[in-house]
Amino acid sequence: MYDVKSMNADDFINHEEILESLEYAEQNKHNRELIEQILEKAKPKKTGRGVECAGLSHREASVLLACDIPEMNEKIYELAREIKQAFYGDRIVMFAPLYLSNYCVNKCVYCPYHMQNKEIPRKKLTQDEVRDEVIALQDMGHKRLAIESGEDPVNNPIEYILECINTIYSIKHKNGAIRRVNVNIAATTVENYRKLKEAGIGTYILFQETYHRESYEVLHPAGPKHNYCYHTEAMDRAMEGGIDDVGLGVLFGLDKYRYEFAGLLMHAEHLEAVHGVGPHTISVPRLRRASDIDPDVFDNGIDDDTFAKIVACIRIAVPYTGMIISTRESEECRAKVIGLGVSQISGGSRTSVGGYAGYSSEDRPHDTEQFDVSDQRTLDEVVKWLMDMGYIPSFCTACYREGRTGDRFMALCKVGQIQNCCHPNALLTLQEYLQDYASPETKKVGEALIDREIQNVPDPKRREKALDYLSRIRNGERDFRF
Ligand code: SAM
Repeated sequence: MYDVKSMNADDFINHEEILESLEYAEQNKHNRELIEQILEKAKPKKTGRGVECAGLSHREASVLLACDIPEMNEKIYELAREIKQAFYGDRIVMFAPLYLSNYCVNKCVYCPYHMQNKEIPRKKLTQDEVRDEVIALQDMGHKRLAIESGEDPVNNPIEYILECINTIYSIKHKNGAIRRVNVNIAATTVENYRKLKEAGIGTYILFQETYHRESYEVLHPAGPKHNYCYHTEAMDRAMEGGIDDVGLGVLFGLDKYRYEFAGLLMHAEHLEAVHGVGPHTISVPRLRRASDIDPDVFDNGIDDDTFAKIVACIRIAVPYTGMIISTRESEECRAKVIGLGVSQISGGSRTSVGGYAGYSSEDRPHDTEQFDVSDQRTLDEVVKWLMDMGYIPSFCTACYREGRTGDRFMALCKVGQIQNCCHPNALLTLQEYLQDYASPETKKVGEALIDREIQNVPDPKRREKALDYLSRIRNGERDFRF
């Protein structure tokens, strides 16, 4: 039976509830009046505490996703843009993945790391190699990483992951530093989540892959990941272990996207209902070609327009949740979805174990790649491209370092302090990037952007302080934040 507060995966991601929601959405996809009402409910509203959004239930959001009235769809996109602007402005947070190990004991049929794949060489970074990778990433300008690993209790036990996190945080090369390490590793125990928390991680990310239990079990035929409930209840254990920033996601292409969408939002509702805080981020990866993996054998692939609609509807349904896309997506697709709700993107990514150190931007290793990277530009190219489109690339990691995790980040949104806090932080970290890593052309565009944008910090005292920090960064100091 559907119960948002149940700790049992089959109850909070209840199959019948999803089917009924999809049926309701199908019946109402032409119901203009209802769609208008749903959009009205989701609009940003001025309150005594600033601008607030109510969000939507999985049922309401499913109606928007199913809607096929062209002018209503335009309104959906407009609202997604408005919400994005209200809470994220033009800022886009930058990160890079760091692959630690591709040893894996699972048999996920869509993933090249599956244990039966004899085509890829297995590799695990030594601490010296982690160090080399981190130096290469710092030299690109990255401050925020997402570490990735296969699941293998012998080759990549939690102690190995913790050691890598320690190494990553310890490296200070020139002006570089990794200030936030997000972690994407397999579902684990409360005790291990507690250890990750103690190691100072940012977000714990775990993709559900699919919320459809039957498909899940077929797609994960063996290994610890086969256990649907253990996987689906992982975020509850992570929160019990003290991690309050968790990142959800599904791998689009595995099952029907409307089913996944409803499941994803039900998962977010469950976290909010039980722990008082929803997911910090939602990722929207799509299945890609990879070693031993042909995405065409999975017949639920979605086109770019459907993908954009999903992004817009997520933005409207969970306005305070960051949204992430990776270099699985092309430049063209990224441009489209950034405006509709995506707030974090990766740049200059390598999806192979040991893919950064010793390789130039043209010369990338393919043998251990997790999947084909669609956007192959360098970080500098991505930063310049974002600025040319009017966005502000941000290397900010301030919130979690200031203890603004979980609901405290949302409180910041609600009291309308974003423009006095996130906006200058984005500009300060962009200034650091320009100073230390940017090409002359990127630097020129960025300096002009910062001079212009700093004037948009509303509080005069904050603005003055930010201007002081900017000039100190230009004179060699680093790591200021609000
Ligand atoms: N091993 C960890 C786990 O079990 O959750 C996570 C690490 S894995 C490197 C990160 C994610 O890559 C997976 O959760 C999956 O969604 C995604 N992935 C796997 N195969 C893929 C493919 N062929 N194309 C795109 N993404 C893929």
